[in-house]
Amino acid sequence: MPPIFRKKILVKGVVQGVGFRPHVYRLASLHSVSGWVKNDASGVTVEAEGPAVKLNDFIRDISRLKPPASRVDSVSVSVLVPAGEKGFFITKSGGAAPAAAIIPADLALCADCRRELLTPSDRRYLYPFTNCTNCGPRFTIVKSVPYDRPATTMSGFKMCPDCLREYMDPLDRRFHAQPDACPVCGPAVRLGAGGCEYTGRAALERTAALLIAGRVGALQSLGGFHLACRADVPGALKKLRGAKSRPHKPFAVMVPSLAEARRACFVSKLEAAALSSSEAPVVMLLKRVPGSFAGAAPGLAKLGVMLPYTPLHAALFALLAEQGFSGPLVMTSGNFRDEPICKDSPEVKARLSGVASFTLSHDRPIHNRVDDSVAFEAAGELRLARRARGYVPGAVKLASGGRPLLACGADLKNAFCLTRGSEAFLSQHIGDLSEPKNQEFYSETLAKMRALLKVAPVIVAHDLHPDYASTALARALPGRKVPVQHHAAHILSVAAEHGLSDPFIGAAFDGTGYGADGKIWGSEFLVFERNCWRRAGHLKYFGLPGGDIGALEIWRPALALVKAAFGSDWRRRAGTLFKVVPQAGLLTVERMIEAGVNCPETSSMGRLFDAFSFIAGVRTEATYEAQGPMEMESLLDGKGYGAYEFRLIPGPFLQLDPGPAVRAAAADRLAGLTPVVISSRFHSGLARAASSALLYISSATGIKTVCLSGGVFQNRALLESVTRRASKGGLKVLTNVRVPANDGGIALGQAWYALKGYKENN
Ligand code: ZN
Ligand code: ZN
Ligand code: FE
Repeated sequence: MPPIFRKKILVKGVVQGVGFRPHVYRLASLHSVSGWVKNDASGVTVEAEGPAVKLNDFIRDISRLKPPASRVDSVSVSVLVPAGEKGFFITKSGGAAPAAAIIPADLALCADCRRELLTPSDRRYLYPFTNCTNCGPRFTIVKSVPYDRPATTMSGFKMCPDCLREYMDPLDRRFHAQPDACPVCGPAVRLGAGGCEYTGRAALERTAALLIAGRVGALQSLGGFHLACRADVPGALKKLRGAKSRPHKPFAVMVPSLAEARRACFVSKLEAAALSSSEAPVVMLLKRVPGSFAGAAPGLAKLGVMLPYTPLHAALFALLAEQGFSGPLVMTSGNFRDEPICKDSPEVKARLSGVASFTLSHDRPIHNRVDDSVAFEAAGELRLARRARGYVPGAVKLASGGRPLLACGADLKNAFCLTRGSEAFLSQHIGDLSEPKNQEFYSETLAKMRALLKVAPVIVAHDLHPDYASTALARALPGRKVPVQHHAAHILSVAAEHGLSDPFIGAAFDGTGYGADGKIWGSEFLVFERNCWRRAGHLKYFGLPGGDIGALEIWRPALALVKAAFGSDWRRRAGTLFKVVPQAGLLTVERMIEAGVNCPETSSMGRLFDAFSFIAGVRTEATYEAQGPMEMESLLDGKGYGAYEFRLIPGPFLQLDPGPAVRAAAADRLAGLTPVVISSRFHSGLARAASSALLYISSATGIKTVCLSGGVFQNRALLESVTRRASKGGLKVLTNVRVPANDGGIALGQAWYALKGYKENN
């Protein structure tokens, strides 16, 4: 008999609620080791004994063969005295809710459950709520910790004997799957359409028929309702756009399979993996045919695509296919304008009854409303544009911790951040806080997250902007307040993600943020050194006549830039560009610029992009924020057409003067060059100028590491070009990967600022 050893194994990471204990149990029987496994405060603890070889194989396989939805951060092993135990057991998780328990994020339908769902002889054939330890609802149904069925919105459903047997069997895929259910005992769908009611299979079949017929419907999904319709029926899209007051803003589509995604769009390896991942975000894919999907994503080269991520979606697409339809469905957040996504039938009735001609709902309540996440590939990494379903409440691990704090985020694309030790928990995407319903959503979500994480923040970080709703919300809370400049927070979101310490340089390009000098910043070069930050450079200020309205009436910033670039000669040199603008308005705005009345100065990169999209002839007005920039990026054809010049002006702050670029672009337009050429020259010139500025600041400070952030860096061409040029110049370039580069990631930077005690030194 070989000598027997006993070891204690601590596994940390996302290891609860993802089938980890049954996984360990199965390995124990595979390798014939004895002992036990349990969930505890810090993760999963195992004690195992057996001969050395078997024990080592067992320990190796714990992480090597880990369940698909789990994430192993560390495995630590210590030696114990053998106890002579026989058999292997899953023991109960002990006592009170563990302080560091991690609530798993929602997991997309797994391959095993999909197979059962589509097998006619299976007892869960086309059952829209099938799930197992590898998939299914988590965060959206959890009300409190520990994560057990009574603490979820499944508490009202009593398991039938068949489900209970699966739930109790350590060798079953549904062992301790808290939302386990079947048609006998679980939730059910209900369709309300034109005064008629349908349930079960009939509800799904009828829904499929209504969608095929071109109707718009509200579908209850995982984190809220979708508004759904065929992507190829203009009438349906027109109705949807009218109801949401979104004449052009892109809508995501759901396609039944990866093959269908590939039929519509180019799909890289990374993008395919993202589409099929358990997070299952909307992935921005390049359309195969430029100009296609003009109803879902007009004027854009990319289309947001997702795969069916719940059994309800998969069952619906199976029935659509049975009725001969395999095309994409538009699936957009079921909300009114920019309000929170609807999560129950009364909300749908109140907010969406004007647009949805039918409602497919179910009786498994949504506790935490969560929108779809949006991801895109750039510079070889998958990045998030919106971090919500599938990612929340996953933590971002920080290099160091501190006292618990709340970072309130910014007002657009709001998400807040709570820290617990060295973990940062970003909330799901809340949205635009100028919308009162979103402020309610914010407060509701903050209360829920605080309860789930069991944290009471003692520090409250918030944006420097005195008039932001998020600032007002921060001021109303107890705790020490730490105001954080918007662009410093953007850059620190990168530093926090990468565990980067001082010194480093940051370039933050975005729409707008309140500057340390009271002006509207938006293209900032910042230096972080010895726990202080200072501004080292920026886009030369230009006027923003009318303020925020310039983000929609994009000819306004264009006029300010053209006037600055040409001086008094502007009418003769470029006046014809503005013939499309109502002349009375033009004269008023011209006077505003000259008198400096209601014309704040800005260094906004978003508005610079807007202005160039106007000059290029792409559009005169935008109907959603960043429409001009997104359409400008969409024009790029990958060919080189040269670059416009931005002048670098040294001084106490390095300034990027867009004057030469404005003059050249106006001349190109008037000479009849296409928007494609103008966009390409603008992108190339800007990337060149930005990297030159970074290299200039690097040589002045001796700092070799740079962080790029801000919403404008979601522009793939710009991000890749600046990264390539700066790297070639010997700089190490870091960017956002796990949190959005837009304002959705800013709370992480605010949190890191407050944790590290950064100070302003301007
Ligand atoms: Zn499953
Ligand atoms: Zn059942
Ligand atoms: Fe921003």
